[in-house]
Amino acid sequence: MTTAMERKLFRLEGKVQHYAWGGYTYIPALLGIPAGNTPSAEYWMGAHQSAPSQVITPGGTITLDKLIQERPQEVLGEAVWQRFGQLPYLFKILDVKDMLSIQVHPSKTEAEKGFARENEAGIPLNAPDRNYKDANHKPEIMVALSDFWLLHGFLPHDALQQVLKTVPEFATLTSIYEQEGYKGLYKAVMEMPQEQVNTLLRPLAERVLPAYQANQLDKSDPAFWAGRAIANDPEGMNRLDRGIFSIYFFNIMNVQPGEAVFQDAGIPHAYLEGQNVELMANSDNVLRGGLTPKHIDVPELLKHTRFEGVHPVIIQGSAVQDGLEQLYHSPAPDFAASKIELQKGQVYKSTSNAAAILIVMKGTATITGSDTLALHKGQCALVTNGEHYQISTDNEVVIFKAGPGQF
Ligand SMILES: [Zn+2]
Repeated sequence: MTTAMERKLFRLEGKVQHYAWGGYTYIPALLGIPAGNTPSAEYWMGAHQSAPSQVITPGGTITLDKLIQERPQEVLGEAVWQRFGQLPYLFKILDVKDMLSIQVHPSKTEAEKGFARENEAGIPLNAPDRNYKDANHKPEIMVALSDFWLLHGFLPHDALQQVLKTVPEFATLTSIYEQEGYKGLYKAVMEMPQEQVNTLLRPLAERVLPAYQANQLDKSDPAFWAGRAIANDPEGMNRLDRGIFSIYFFNIMNVQPGEAVFQDAGIPHAYLEGQNVELMANSDNVLRGGLTPKHIDVPELLKHTRFEGVHPVIIQGSAVQDGLEQLYHSPAPDFAASKIELQKGQVYKSTSNAAAILIVMKGTATITGSDTLALHKGQCALVTNGEHYQISTDNEVVIFKAGPGQF
């Protein structure tokens, strides 16, 4: 690939990640591949070095990170290249069968400091106790593809007070919260010796587990998710996960298909169930706070958590392009997510001002620019900088699109 890139429109193939919490059928059905014996949790589209996408070019197949390395300005455009020095986002489809660990992502400044500090300390990048995999922040936006459930931020003051008052096992925590607020309360449960966690949570576990197993609980009730966490934990009642406290202390959000939620730095969150499209800054920096067998660094977690009540916000798409595209606004400069929905006869026209990735979620699309691609459900395209292109369909199509944000 030594001549100037004549084509700016390519087929792209992402990578399936088989994490244990994933479902077995959703992603294989989307991609039109047989369901295997291992779960398919995530489908990654992007240039992240650990699982870069394949770009199909006339000269052969090349990974997206390599293509960007070879031709940064042509793929990304000058502005994105200057600002980020890489594809700034990572685009994913998620199928959440079992809840994920409770997590917080650091701010950009904190990620830079943390990454440098762990490098200086000589902690290998792949060490299990490494917190910072890169120097980047990781804000995220998710758009629900199904009825979706997640934990998002601490409950507002009144609601949290009510929980501490009504759940009998939390009686001893009330005075801590009254005197030391969110931080004192969270620090107390995160630093509590495991023995004490077991003693405190055992009666709660003995109450919610049978109710969960008998299907008596609603998903809006934290007892449902506590019951599921205990039922799915191989340790069972022997070692109760302190993440159960967070299920009660955080907002439980229910998001409908097409609605979005933004996770900013410092907001604790956990996906509980459902399918979504996720778009995030190109980073793998996660500080975990429970519901996980993975490494938890409590002091580091406390340092980055925003200790304040959160009133959850559901983001609706705003219509652009004559209503053919719904744009999900977020403050992150790294990315912008949108949904393009077309019926037969409608034509979406755009000029790519940086690299964009599109995935067809339903129906079929014809994308015309410097090449013509016929895409069906589960297929993806890469549109590089400066491409004038249009999308049409001979029946109907739903496409999710990722590109850089405003900066
Ligand atoms: Zn996250």
